[in-house]
Amino acid sequence: MNEALEVWIDQDLCTGDGICVQYAPEVFELDIDGLAYVKSADDELLQAPRATTPVPLPLLQDVVDSAKECPGDCIHVRRVSDSVEVYGPDAE
Ligand code: SF4
Repeated sequence: MNEALEVWIDQDLCTGDGICVQYAPEVFELDIDGLAYVKSADDELLQAPRATTPVPLPLLQDVVDSAKECPGDCIHVRRVSDSVEVYGPDAE
């Protein structure tokens, strides 16, 4: 069974290149400050730094690819149940 995952961005390291938005526009968006933020399930931009949003299972691969390609190494995907990072710079 797949565990519920959530994703957050460390805006302090975001370069604003928009690669994540190209991979998963349903989850990521560039705000007017030029940095990427996550969106809620109902498409609302979450402008609080390090806000988290659930990763929809059909978009998991796109989100994982975003984390792998992110030049700032600042996309973090973690388990909801115990907050352990499974994809991203702090994953084991
Ligand atoms: S891929 Fe990473 S560095 Fe680029 S805009 Fe997205 S979060 Fe920022």
